[in-house]
This record gives sequence, C-alpha cells and structure tokens, in this order.
Amino acid sequence: MNLLDILSCPVCKGRVEYHKNTAEIQCPRCRKAYPIVDDIPVMIQEQARIITREESENPR
Ligand SMILES: [Zn+2]
Repeated sequence: MNLLDILSCPVCKGRVEYHKNTAEIQCPRCRKAYPIVDDIPVMIQEQARIITREESENPR
C-alpha cells in the first residue's frame, strides 16, 4: 500500500505529494510542506512549512 494513498492534508483534506529532494510531504493546494520525522510524516498544520513561490514555480 502506498503511504500517500492514506495521507491527506489536514487543512484541505486534499491529496498530498512526496517530494524526494526535500524529503517532505507537500500539499500543492495549501502550499504547505509537512516534515517527515523518523520516516513518519508529521501531518500537523502547526508543524508545516510554507512553500515559497520560487519553490513551487521552479521545482527541481
Ligand atoms: Zn492542503
């Protein structure tokens, strides 16, 4: 089972994406990035980082 299939954004309940280069779970809709600590995604709004405009426009 894919972990991303059971994860959803706590803010918008939408689909989230794993970003390998930053090792984060990102919600493109809310522009939030959730950290992964000890292989466990921390899907908590307060822990999320805001994805900057540059990051979302220039994905590496
Ligand atoms: Zn969201």
